[in-house]
Amino acid sequence: MINPIYVTQPALPELQDMCTMLEKIWQSKQLSNHGQMVRQLENKLASYLGNDNLSVFANGTIALQIACKTLDLRGEVITTPFTFAATAHALAWSGIRPVFCDIEEDSFTLDPNHLEALITEETTGILPVHVFGNPCQIGKIEAIAAQYKLKTLYDAAHAFGVKASGRPIGSYGDISMFSFHATKVFHTVEGGALSFKDPALKKRADRLRNFGLNDDNLVSEPGTNGKMNEIQAAVGLLLLETVTEEIEKRKVLITLYHQLLSNIPGIRMILPQIDITPNYPYCVIRIDSREFGLTRDALYQELMTRNIFSRKYFYPLCSNFGCYRSLPSASLNHLPIANRVADSVLSLPLYGNLAESDVARICDIIRKISKQRQIK
Ligand SMILES: *Cc1c(COP(=O)(O)O)cnc(C)c1O
Repeated sequence: MINPIYVTQPALPELQDMCTMLEKIWQSKQLSNHGQMVRQLENKLASYLGNDNLSVFANGTIALQIACKTLDLRGEVITTPFTFAATAHALAWSGIRPVFCDIEEDSFTLDPNHLEALITEETTGILPVHVFGNPCQIGKIEAIAAQYKLKTLYDAAHAFGVKASGRPIGSYGDISMFSFHATKVFHTVEGGALSFKDPALKKRADRLRNFGLNDDNLVSEPGTNGKMNEIQAAVGLLLLETVTEEIEKRKVLITLYHQLLSNIPGIRMILPQIDITPNYPYCVIRIDSREFGLTRDALYQELMTRNIFSRKYFYPLCSNFGCYRSLPSASLNHLPIANRVADSVLSLPLYGNLAESDVARICDIIRKISKQRQIK
């Protein structure tokens, strides 16, 4: 039996370099509350992500929740069901009802053609997701938001370093959220960031992440604790130096997957859109079970028996969670494409240090499974 191959593996800084960073932190005796490491990371990320109005947080989910408060979102916010649980939950935790909008068959992102039908008196904003680093239809979404005076908050958790039409992804909309969880292309173990259109929004979010405290220690509104600590920031500072290399390695592996999986009936790779600078966060395939001869779930199981751990991502849809499925917008007949996509996608192992020989073996197994089925 081969060693297990997991769907992802975190990038790690050199242990020696991490020790040097820890020595600096030990000398400073400041572990949290916006110390030198966090300040440095904020500056470097502002430059890397192309937006001076940027703040870092303890994780992406608290960043999303703080973004909801910063934009005064309430009532209903339109979002996508084809996302990680955190997107819908951040709304629910802020007392906002998520309204699910169907997605596009090709990009898996929120389909702006359905937006207007979902807008009610209660709607205050739109929370689309740049799914698998593929930007959603920003132009169309922004136009509708402007027409109906709605705020836009983009979940860019997957889109670190992505550019759309030559512009950094975090420069669109009122706020964009990045996640720096260990499973993401760039990470700080746990962590996240918000990039803002307006410096006043950054100021408010910075206050909200620190219990609502103003500079003069007065409190004008209830905040929370969303602070990133110095050790997280140190990991980020080191990984920021190698993230371009990480993305480059992933590109090579994705290209290899693409070559080796082409011509397998019923398997389609989801590739980055043209006109973007991609970041290759996941290797996503879609399975047409009739052509392939096996369902997505069966392929997932077959791979697992061979010690290859893929991931059904995103499955189940947020709209099918027990806590949301009774919402009117969650019904299957409103979300046919999202349901179809969630039942047919699979994320294959992808991380910078994955060996090319492992990619070859994974593809070989998929091809063999497919052949066996075609004969039967
Ligand atoms: C990872 C992720 C989040 C949550 O980020 P955390 O940093 O893990 O809290 C939110 N949305 C999407 C789409 C994600 O993939």
